[in-house]
Amino acid sequence: MNCDWIKQDIINYCNEIINKYLYMKFPFRAVMIKTNFCYCCKTYSQTMQLREDSFSGLYNNYSWIYCKKCKIYVELADNFLYNNTNYVQYDKCKNLEKNHYNFFRVSSNLLVKPYIQKECYFNFRNGDYIKDLYNRVSMTISWKSYKDELCKNIPLANLIFFNRKIFGYNYNNFPLKDLPKKWTNLIKTEYNLSNEWRCLLIIIYKKTNLPKDVIKIIFKFWNSLYKY
Ligand SMILES: [Zn+2]
Repeated sequence: MNCDWIKQDIINYCNEIINKYLYMKFPFRAVMIKTNFCYCCKTYSQTMQLREDSFSGLYNNYSWIYCKKCKIYVELADNFLYNNTNYVQYDKCKNLEKNHYNFFRVSSNLLVKPYIQKECYFNFRNGDYIKDLYNRVSMTISWKSYKDELCKNIPLANLIFFNRKIFGYNYNNFPLKDLPKKWTNLIKTEYNLSNEWRCLLIIIYKKTNLPKDVIKIIFKFWNSLYKY
């Protein structure tokens, strides 16, 4: 019996599945879009929209537009994206919004001496809260300065060091749970950097009489607590 047609059918079927997934693997900027057109199976039918839960989704409308039949591909793509993006989606970061934070600020303006900025917070309008930057965990923190709002990307180690009541001393105390696996080691590294500083300060204060200005100089050059 010639089974070529069965073989060809299976190949076509698999190709179709793969192609649909590849079309929808990433959300796209949903502007100037056709009404009732599924961008997955490329046919006209009633569609739904899933906007990516990130800064790009909220402000640049990065979304999936799909029909009921293609929903499964979008769910798969959303799941893939969630586990592989270089930022954490907003709904996983909600817990960060309920606190105020301090951090060591080194301004790009050389006339401003480094200092500890207080009363900082997370504002979704200023960017994704948590990003992977230069293989470090970067936090987008905001604060008020006179009438303006400023924001800055700072290493998580900086936040941990100056906000122990919130972040504690090890990964188990990190206030966000169930993040994709790739963040575990990155966050643990930030705790290590922060804790090394704590150890050093304990030794300096107990065993030496180094002036504060000298400690500040060490702080600038050792351990990347505030720099990437
Ligand atoms: Zn479709």
